[in-house]
Amino acid sequence: MNSETIIKITNKYGAHNYEPLDVVLDRGEGVFVWDVEGKRYMDCLSSYSALNHGHCHPEIVEAAKQQLDRLTLTSRAFHNDQLGPFLKELCEFAGMDMALPMNTGAEAVETALKAARKWAYETKGVPRHEAEIIVAANNFHGRTITIITFSTEPLYRDPFGPFTPGFKVIPYNDAKALEDTITPNTAAFLVEPIQGEGGVIVPDEGYLAEIREITRKNNVLLVMDEVQTGFGRCGKPFAWQYEDAKPDLVVVGKALGGGVYPVSGVIGSRDVLGLFRPGEHGSTFGGNPLAAAVGRAALRVLKEEKLADRSFELGNYMMQQLRTVKSNYIKEVRGKGLLIGVELVKEAGGARRFCEALQEKGLLAKETHEDVIRFAPPLVITREQIDWAVETFREVMNELA
Ligand SMILES: *Cc1c(COP(=O)(O)O)cnc(C)c1O
Repeated sequence: MNSETIIKITNKYGAHNYEPLDVVLDRGEGVFVWDVEGKRYMDCLSSYSALNHGHCHPEIVEAAKQQLDRLTLTSRAFHNDQLGPFLKELCEFAGMDMALPMNTGAEAVETALKAARKWAYETKGVPRHEAEIIVAANNFHGRTITIITFSTEPLYRDPFGPFTPGFKVIPYNDAKALEDTITPNTAAFLVEPIQGEGGVIVPDEGYLAEIREITRKNNVLLVMDEVQTGFGRCGKPFAWQYEDAKPDLVVVGKALGGGVYPVSGVIGSRDVLGLFRPGEHGSTFGGNPLAAAVGRAALRVLKEEKLADRSFELGNYMMQQLRTVKSNYIKEVRGKGLLIGVELVKEAGGARRFCEALQEKGLLAKETHEDVIRFAPPLVITREQIDWAVETFREVMNELA
């Protein structure tokens, strides 16, 4: 079937909850993907940072194949031989005590919210059902009803109420607002160290350390959502490591599955995750041996290929090169590591048409928040490939000027 036919079928039988570019992919390798007509593209989205290791990384694919032939699912009713070693390696990678495995990012966020509330009642002494969790405006934490309760994007939220009580929204990058909003009933502050979906918003230097200090002082948990920023994407293993801001809980997902399989979880302190008792929380697929084997391989490759260091170096290089593109349409180039946003001015007429022009030239990127083009290629990208991407971007900016 050709692209056109496949898109028709997809649109006829699939709910229209996405608006993909008109490209149908059937193969991927490293930073490249191919469409069904055989045209090659460079992937500069990396499935919203789930593909930090690149497409079909041979070591991760091999680990999955080996595990597929041995054991795929046990449920947590029994132990399996992969989960324990996976959790140990994950905790060591993150410098944390304990982890709780899930499948998707949203489930892991929900898990962190439950953990924080439980900690508030059992350890902090907040009256039952009165715990408050503070979040930041312009956040993205996933799509469950509880999570969209505290979204500030009407598109994500409005048609889906009634909502879950117990959340307060404050401005992002405003430590003073956090201090002013904390009450004796505050359980946690949930925040992204860089807002990815929100348009690659990088907070001021010092913000992360400040919110760590404020939460510590007030006996409030700091929960960082590193689903998109983690595992080297921003030039460090985790983005919180840019400052002295080690959180109590870290939510992880996306790249933990090596671009092969959904693997997520919450990693954190024993004081919080140690509170769960059997039966209080769970997931049929969470921690399954296939997920654990894939997660172990993904962590191994991150270390072996020093992907965080690579992302730091090449991210700085790519941002520097993007800043040499002269166009009246470009408002700002910002980011950390290889999570880069190019914000266009309003007069540019939205980022979508630029993404479509980039697609024509064989570069796949996706607009986020109308006016931002996100460049987040796999961390295995080379300097030469970055040069090509920047030149292609330069051409598009000139042609659509
Ligand atoms: C993608 C994302 C999520 C949700 O992950 P899913 O796997 O899509 O449920 C949560 N938080 C952040 C910061 C994300 O980027």
